Amino acid sequence: MRAANLKTTLERNFTWRVARLDARLAELRASADSARAYFPTLQAPIPVMMVVDVEPDGFFIRRDSRLPWRGYQAVHEFFRELRPLWSARTDAPVHYSWYFRMDPQIAEVYESPNWAARKYAEFIDEYVAQGDELGLHPHDYRWDTTLDSWIVDHGNQAWVNHCVETAFAAFREAFGRNCDSFRFGDRWMNDETIASVEALGARFDLTLEPGRSAALASFPDKPFTGSLPDYTDVPRTAYQRSSSDYRKADPSRTDGIWMLPLSTVSASETTPLMRLWDKVIGDEAPPSVYHTLNLAHDPRFLLRGVDQALQSKDFSYLAFVIRSDIGANRSLFENLQNNLAGIMAHPLASRFVVCTAAECMKMLGLIRSSDQSL
Ligand SMILES: [Zn+2]
Repeated sequence: MRAANLKTTLERNFTWRVARLDARLAELRASADSARAYFPTLQAPIPVMMVVDVEPDGFFIRRDSRLPWRGYQAVHEFFRELRPLWSARTDAPVHYSWYFRMDPQIAEVYESPNWAARKYAEFIDEYVAQGDELGLHPHDYRWDTTLDSWIVDHGNQAWVNHCVETAFAAFREAFGRNCDSFRFGDRWMNDETIASVEALGARFDLTLEPGRSAALASFPDKPFTGSLPDYTDVPRTAYQRSSSDYRKADPSRTDGIWMLPLSTVSASETTPLMRLWDKVIGDEAPPSVYHTLNLAHDPRFLLRGVDQALQSKDFSYLAFVIRSDIGANRSLFENLQNNLAGIMAHPLASRFVVCTAAECMKMLGLIRSSDQSL
């Protein structure tokens, strides 16, 4: 499907209107030949992971009412309508990745860590039928009665372990199988936790965000323990970790969980655009130099970031991420729609194969395509 037709189809079919990106789309509508010159080292197909963190609307959520996950409902609807368009654009099946919250915060507020799996069972049936990935995305919020608040408890390893174990058990109960794919909330990780995730049977971890520096907390004005790790030197390709530092590759390893870092881009090339951050997100720009390809970003940043990622010397896949609650935020949801329209209008879009972590690994030749366990 040509980019112009695609945009027309998007505007005709979606119940929400895809806002105009004419200038940017025109820029992206380069010929296939110039695209090949622009991205000379890239071979078809290009694995693209579309990761959705399925979460409540908000972080420090109310304890006294089980509000539906409205953002998720909207995001689900959007991706459902998008699937045939993506598939036509790439001439390949489209497999999204849905990472569910099934942790103690969910259990505390919604009575069971499996609440979303029950409430949205029809959505999940559709994912399974379509071949999507179901994974886990636990956070470690703990209700602190003294503070009368949620506390982000990265510094409490016993609680972190409890969150991880709760999530894996809930996943098995909900879906009748073990969880293969994992990403911890808040882009947080440490050696003990990744060892536990591996021991619980996960094959892939998508938590890490290369280039991002250490930070105190995502919400430094709220209660927290511990801190966010330094990912400055994390590899940008899939790797098996060193047993002494999960942020380093150990090429001699032939077993263990694969780390698949998310796509991140340097803000140094996009600094003027990041100044828009405060207008878009409503907060000051994050201090780190690298930013994740989060589809809630302003499209002028995100689409430039896609080109930057594609041109990086160690490029092997694209991994986009969103948190489902952006579906409940009008401007961020519009960003998502415009970003997807821009990505599908990219000159290389016909080679983007929207795939699961296992499929990505098979496409990269890192696990055997005959591996029937995935
Ligand atoms: Zn999250």
